[in-house]
Amino acid sequence: MSQDINVGSHIWVEDPELAWIDGIVINTNGAEAEIQTSDVRTVTAKLSKLYPKDVEAPAGGVDDMTKLSYLHEPAVLYNLATRYEINEIYTYCGNILIAINPFRELSHLYDVYLMERYKGAQLGELKPHVFAIADVAYRAMINEGKSNSIMVSGESGAGKTETTKMLMRYLAYLGGHAAAEGRTVERKVLESNPVLEAFGNAKTVRNNNSSRFGKFVEIQFDERGQISGAAIRTYLLEKSRVCQISDPERNYHCFYLLCAAPLEEAIFRVVAAILHLGNITFARGEEDSSILQDDKSKFHLQMTAELLMCDSQALEVALCKRVMITPEEIIKRSLDPLGATVSRDGLAKTIYSRLFDWLVNKINVSIGQDPHSKCLIGVLDIYGFESFKTNSFEQFCINFTNEKLQQHFNQHVFKMEQALYKSEEIDWSYVEFVDNQDVLDLIEKKPGGIISLLDEACMFPKSTHETFAQKLYQTFKDHRRFVKPKLARSEFTVVHYAGEVQYQSDQFLDKNKDYVVPEYQDMLSASKCSFVAGLFPLLPEETAKSGKFSSIGSRFKLQLQQLMDILNSTEPHYIRCIKPNNELKPEIFENVNVLQQLRSGGVLEAIRVKCEGFPTHRTFTEFLNRFATLAPEILEGNYEENVACKWIMEKMGLSRYQMGKTKIFLRAGHMSELDARKAKVL
Ligand code: ADP
Ligand code: MG
Repeated sequence: MSQDINVGSHIWVEDPELAWIDGIVINTNGAEAEIQTSDVRTVTAKLSKLYPKDVEAPAGGVDDMTKLSYLHEPAVLYNLATRYEINEIYTYCGNILIAINPFRELSHLYDVYLMERYKGAQLGELKPHVFAIADVAYRAMINEGKSNSIMVSGESGAGKTETTKMLMRYLAYLGGHAAAEGRTVERKVLESNPVLEAFGNAKTVRNNNSSRFGKFVEIQFDERGQISGAAIRTYLLEKSRVCQISDPERNYHCFYLLCAAPLEEAIFRVVAAILHLGNITFARGEEDSSILQDDKSKFHLQMTAELLMCDSQALEVALCKRVMITPEEIIKRSLDPLGATVSRDGLAKTIYSRLFDWLVNKINVSIGQDPHSKCLIGVLDIYGFESFKTNSFEQFCINFTNEKLQQHFNQHVFKMEQALYKSEEIDWSYVEFVDNQDVLDLIEKKPGGIISLLDEACMFPKSTHETFAQKLYQTFKDHRRFVKPKLARSEFTVVHYAGEVQYQSDQFLDKNKDYVVPEYQDMLSASKCSFVAGLFPLLPEETAKSGKFSSIGSRFKLQLQQLMDILNSTEPHYIRCIKPNNELKPEIFENVNVLQQLRSGGVLEAIRVKCEGFPTHRTFTEFLNRFATLAPEILEGNYEENVACKWIMEKMGLSRYQMGKTKIFLRAGHMSELDARKAKVL
């Protein structure tokens, strides 16, 4: 890079606060450069760490990153920031849509007139928009008879769920039925949103309406392109929220809605029971046993039992005692107050997650599936990569999901680049494909991956999180994606594609066990309320007895594989949502924060893939408009455009570029070299 940067060059230099700042080189000394930044400071930096700035870049930015003359991190970031300032929240990066949360109502962006305009428009003809992506997916489905999917990702509060709702509204608009047909499928799909949100969303510090589950909505179409059915699949509901919330976060919305709703309907009965259950507290009884703390607890126990229509005596015993089966005998062991509390929370979580699954199923039955549908458009709204101060099993599963999706994404980006090169008939054989298969092996390989080792640990009665961690340290000693942190006894670090994440293994074993205590199972399946009993169907004798171990991790892995199978059979489209600041406020664009998300969302990776190949392409005319001054002689001759382009490249001594049918394809660095030469000529 350094040979085209001299005194007077406009460049980007790293900045601890802004990530990148622009400036002009005022002095060079060997490998060092002295720079005057645009906020009038003088800084020094290594020449090799500077990136050229495109002085000819349009003032309002470009609506597609691939139009940038220099495709690099500072240019990408600056382009997004410039656009965000003028409320242009959508930008393409090739056929990926980047959406930056405006944190303010931009109602003109989503009205029906705009929907009409996007209908049938070519991608790129109009401004970047979610409607454009949905339109492309819909047209591709109609024209090629192939299923499509739209994957929306981003961190909590980035705007995934809002984006998903816009997508669905637009698809309902395209594939909807003419008026007067009663409650159509598309109405039912849209109406399912508030219900699911009541039970699956909560206020968190990152988002006032945060979805605590992943969601894949499959919209089925008939041969006329009309919506004929739909199915909703959900992933990994955050069960722990039912019992553990830290101020100022809240529990699921439904608990608050309940307080304002009449006590009818069986669903709210169960929600109310969970609330009462949570109010039961325990005190120490004789010999490490536990008893209900006071009259208030007795009242709540009574209420819980009444609402669940089960025996209050049985409930009390189930909460305070645990049946142990040893080879010799069956004993009833008392739980101490802490044990009883854990047991109580386990019950609440189980009931809630069964209720949630029931609800999703109910919605699916009510919407109805179309068994004859040939094509579908799937919309995935799933949590992005997470890395917090402490990361547990939930983050592990979420990041595993993101590794899977990232691999899918890389393959797609690579394929799209290849398709472009092929259509222009240029040689792409030396563009290398790098993927994250090694992290996926570390996590999911069977046998030997982390999930397998976790299952083994869960089945072995004597294991603890420490023995589990030791096993990991031993097994992955030399794995380049696994790190044992210094002084760690049970933590481990995985080097994910988006960065390192340190996991605390202490709850991995418990959280991986998907186990309903038999006492609870028996008590609830005997409930006189058929709704409650229905949530806990009797298991066939054998499965119950064999005590066959079922693990959350393995089941999730299977679910994820099924999702990937569906996605792999579709033509994918990607929307990356970005949260510009953590205050959830408009007009604040935090560079460092945004860059981190571009990295985790794979946008920088996609750009890297592009840079491996030919990051810049220009039609022959565009190229000549910019660089003809480098070879004035071509203006005199009557050359074909492509010959003239070649002439310039050869005159400048640049090689490894490629001539396509309509465009010239440049390698990284070519453009800046040409610009630098041009600056000298002028
Ligand atoms: P996520 O699902 O990624 O966690 P949400 O979709 O719930 O995030 O968005 C969080 C909040 O941001 C919304 O409640 C809304 O206030 C705001 N928001 C998101 N996208 C938009 C948009 N396109 N226009 C206006 N506000 C938005
Ligand atoms: Mg959401």
